[in-house]
Amino acid sequence: MAQSLLPTYARFPLALVKGEGSRVWDDQGKEYLDFISGIAVTNLGHAPARVKEALVKQLDELWHVSNLFRIPNQEEAGKLLTDNSCGDAVFFCNSGAEANEAAIKLARRYQQLVQNNGRFEIITFEQSFHGRTLATLTATGQSKVKEGFAPLPAGFKTIPLNDLKLLEEAVTEQTAAIMLELVQAEGGIHPVDREYIHAVQALCQREGILLIVDEIQTGMGRTGKLFAYEHFGIEPDIFTLAKGLGSGFPVGAMVAKEKLREGFTAGSHGSTFGGTPIATSVVKATLETMLEERVPAKAAEAGEYLMRRLREALSGVPFVQDVRGLGLLVGIQCAGPVSSVLAEAQAKGLLVLSAGPNVVRLLPNLLVTKDEIEEAVAILAELLKAVQV
Ligand SMILES: *Cc1c(COP(=O)(O)O)cnc(C)c1O
Repeated sequence: MAQSLLPTYARFPLALVKGEGSRVWDDQGKEYLDFISGIAVTNLGHAPARVKEALVKQLDELWHVSNLFRIPNQEEAGKLLTDNSCGDAVFFCNSGAEANEAAIKLARRYQQLVQNNGRFEIITFEQSFHGRTLATLTATGQSKVKEGFAPLPAGFKTIPLNDLKLLEEAVTEQTAAIMLELVQAEGGIHPVDREYIHAVQALCQREGILLIVDEIQTGMGRTGKLFAYEHFGIEPDIFTLAKGLGSGFPVGAMVAKEKLREGFTAGSHGSTFGGTPIATSVVKATLETMLEERVPAKAAEAGEYLMRRLREALSGVPFVQDVRGLGLLVGIQCAGPVSSVLAEAQAKGLLVLSAGPNVVRLLPNLLVTKDEIEEAVAILAELLKAVQV
């Protein structure tokens, strides 16, 4: 481990130095098929030509100006997001945690200053993941991310997912918002129940509670729609993006419905780097590519193929309990820890991830080919069949 760095990651002993499409190469020249995509970031593959062209062009023109000035790229990127979603107004930031932080702040400020009801509490769910800032790790439903960081901010309540009665009991006069992922990703690839999320939306509308959907991992085509909420027939009041939004360039966004516009006023929130000309040139090119090349539909097709081939190849394998997911956010639930499977896959030239200790998580780029899927399935089937249970 590098002595110059704080030990915040259990890093694989691998240094990747080059990437193109679905492939990456390490510093020894070894090639890998990348089914991690920087954790759902390089959704268009590594170094996608059109995004790269937009970035290089912008590098020649202007890198940074303050948000005290108009930023045409930011306005256009915002328009692409609002024209293609249920949202009406965007705040750009630099990461997922910042997008969720903005969502929490906007929800509270809207309730307190627009609705004048003093509400502050955010209800979130066990096994969720929302980020690493103090507010977003408090929102996260996993105790391991909270250890040693007390005191945590007040005003968060975490309950089990998919239990309407528990949610109704948790809601009080103080509830400002309910925040959730539609497929819990870090938590083990768990999609929310369809009936449940409809009931949650109805409850929110009835009680004047805001529905915040964290689309940081599920958004940008990953689940086979541009945004995962489209699968469920609901419309969040606020949703958040980062990961795939910049194809690898760090950028995040919070997208809110019209009524929330007045929740923020000049000076109530901000970010030095949020939505710079460079970042938003990349967002624009990423979204244009996704829309014009029907990338979400391709991801849906590839995801169905991947899940079908995994189910075929892994049926009857004692170590494998379930294959589940949505689009190209796919998990293989195993009967025990999968860390050795990840390491062995690497040795065979395949990069895959875990989601919790017992789930292998597959996140290929959204343009992955059938041949690449076959290659990955063959390696995984061989390794998973060999695990003793
Ligand atoms: C990755 C992730 C985050 C945090 O994003 P960062 O950019 O690492 O801050 C939040 N929510 C979900 C669902 C994520 O997958």
